[in-house]
This record gives sequence, C-alpha cells and structure tokens, in this order.
Amino acid sequence: MAGERKAGWSDQVAIVTGASRGIGRAIARELAARGAAVCVNYATQKAAAERLAAEIREAGGRAIAVAADVADAEAVARLTAQATAELGPVGILVTNAGFALLATLESYDPQAMARMRAVNVDGAIHAIRAVAPGMRERGFGRIVIIASNAAIGTALPGTTFYAATKAELLILMRRFAMELGRSGITVNAVAPGWIVTERTRAGLSEDAFAARIKEMSERTMVGRTGLPQDIANAAAFLAAPQSSFLTAQVLTVDGGRMDYIGHG
Ligand code: NAP
Repeated sequence: MAGERKAGWSDQVAIVTGASRGIGRAIARELAARGAAVCVNYATQKAAAERLAAEIREAGGRAIAVAADVADAEAVARLTAQATAELGPVGILVTNAGFALLATLESYDPQAMARMRAVNVDGAIHAIRAVAPGMRERGFGRIVIIASNAAIGTALPGTTFYAATKAELLILMRRFAMELGRSGITVNAVAPGWIVTERTRAGLSEDAFAARIKEMSERTMVGRTGLPQDIANAAAFLAAPQSSFLTAQVLTVDGGRMDYIGHG
C-alpha cells in the first residue's frame, strides 16, 4: 500500500491550523520532533507563530509560519500552496484552529454562532478540501481533526452550541474517512477534555483558576487536568505513517471524565 511505502516521518510535511499557541503549538512541536516539516498556521499572533517556527528550525527541523483565517477558503488554499512550495507535498493535516463561544438558549446570538461555526467546522472542511487532491494523487494522507469531548456529551454550562460545532466535525470525520479511505488517506479525530491553555486560563484570577483546576481534576478518573502535550501525543499517533489501518475513529483524551450526560 502507498501508506506503508512512506514509512518514515522525515519525508512528511504537516500543516497544523491554529498552531501559534495552546494545543496546536504542542502538536506542531511533536510532529516536528518526530521529523516532519511543519507549517505553523495562525490567525493573528504572528510573533508567536514565527517564534515557534524558528524554535523548530533551531532544533534542526523545517518549519514556516503562515497566516490564514481558516474560515476563508481562499486563504486556506493559499496557505496550502505556500506550504507545498516551501516545504513539499502535504501528507499530514491537523485541523486544530477553533474556539468556544459560551451561550445559553437565552443568550444565543446567531451572528456570533455563525462565526464560531465558520471557524470550527467550515475551517476544517476548507483545510481538508485544500489538501485532499494532493493526498489522493500521492495515495497517502493523515488527517486529524481536533474536536472536543463536548461533542460526545460532557455537560459544562454554556458549551451547548460549541458542542454542536464539534459534534458536526465527528460525523464529517467519518464521512470524509469513507470518501478518502481508498486513496490511502485516513481521517480521525481527537476529542480533548479540559486542557490548560491560554484559552482555558483566560479571564480567571489566580484563585479562580486554581479552583477551576481542582474542580475539573475531580471530574476525571486520573485526578488531573490535561496538558497540550497529552493531545499532541494522541494527534501524532493518529498522524503516524504506520497508522494506516486506523480510520474513522474518535480518540477521547480527557483523563476519564465522569460527567457525561446520561439518558434513558
Ligand atoms: P487557544 O489557546 O485559544 O489557541 C487557538 C489557536 O487557534 C491559536 O493558534 C489561534 O491563532 C488559532 N485560531 C483561532 N481562530 C483562528 C482562525 N479563524 N484561523 C486560524 N487560526 C485560528 O485554543 P486551544 O485551547 O489550544 O484549543 C485548540 C483546539 O482544541 C480548538 O479547536 C478547541 O476547540 C479544541 N479544544 C480545546 C480544549 C481545551 O480545554 N483547551 C478542549 C477541547 C477541545 P492566533 O493565536 O493567531 O489567534
């Protein structure tokens, strides 16, 4: 099979969307540490993205930082063209860019929700559409979608509509896996639990953050909150050239969360 022939990491080129910070940055670092060349995508934080690309190059790897709003299909096509021109044909895509807008039925704002969906869902679709033709041509691809355990039924207040965007990604993941599987392309998702990043720290005082860590740790079987590296390990496993018989799966990395919504 085409996938097995490309056994090594060192001839891989990866795009990681939303890699200037948080989970995306950890994924980009992990793929680079395994030998892949990495295109570090970002939306606004140019300096942070360039710092990461420079760090990877200084460690002997290959990396570039490229701006693109993933909600903009043309910008994503340009990003893919630049990654291909400067690093080589893209074999790995991690769609990580996304954000959570908290709302209830009462505070639902259609425009704000449309933007969240455009980034979280359309952003992944644009990126997959941009890399799929090249992957098909070469008969090899690893696509990893960063969803959330909210998509499969955790119950934090305010995350309802965010959860819906992430649930949409899971069905798309399975359908894209069906469409692309015969071309040597696997499509899988990681569903992270509560991971400490800039986003989960945002707006909290030191005390409030410590209380949040305690609360979220108690909800897990392992008794701790997650680190970006926990997600990077899972993403790299799914993106590995050797993971060619593993597709259409959700890998939940949430420390064994015990607060899923029950029914029936
Ligand atoms: P974060 O710290 O807020 O980082 C978000 C990253 O996405 C940044 O690099 C940001 O770029 C980029 N980004 C945002 N909007 C973008 C756009 N329109 N186009 C391109 N890039 C964009 O987030 P995180 O906590 O690492 O979360 C990363 C992913 O994991 C998200 O999809 C999130 O839903 C998912 N997730 C996170 C958790 C968690 O607990 N943290 C749990 C489950 C799932 P700039 O820096 O340039 O703005």
